[in-house]
Amino acid sequence: MEPLWADLINSDWHDHRGTGAREDRIENDVWLARFLDKAGWTAKQLPGQEERQALREMRRYLVRVVERVRHNKEMSKRELDRLNQFLSRSPVVRRLEVDGGSPHVALIPSAVGIDAVLGEVAASFAEMMENGDPTRIKTCANTDCGWVIYDNSRNRTRRWCDKTECGNLIKVRRHRERKRESRSG
Ligand SMILES: [Zn+2]
Repeated sequence: MEPLWADLINSDWHDHRGTGAREDRIENDVWLARFLDKAGWTAKQLPGQEERQALREMRRYLVRVVERVRHNKEMSKRELDRLNQFLSRSPVVRRLEVDGGSPHVALIPSAVGIDAVLGEVAASFAEMMENGDPTRIKTCANTDCGWVIYDNSRNRTRRWCDKTECGNLIKVRRHRERKRESRSG
């Protein structure tokens, strides 16, 4: 599972098998329900067109800003302002919680609906900027796939969105190519 901000970028889906098929998963209710569940959507109904449009706008923003920061460029003032706008759509309330005897301050979003979702996605990105390393952001080594991934591995060796999907696909393809070459050579 990728962080929320990457999930939203990856909702612009490309077939990793290279068929050229593409799907805007914001229009795919099954995908959307799963994503919203992770992002703290509480309403019973799925969002309407206006709210889906807001998600697409945020996706466009994230694609742009990720392209900058993953190449170690700083966010522009405008990009930073925009992120803070997204964050301000979902102010948080602090609450002390005691789970299993260890007290911690939980941040409870006070917004509901799409504001809460946009706020959560923005918070996941802000958290990565604070505690993570944006140069760990990569795209899947299968160029047909292009999934945005966050490489959490110790030696930055992660190459695939999914080893069993894209990793195997490319391995099998290379193997076949080698076989063909050895036959013709
Ligand atoms: Zn992939």
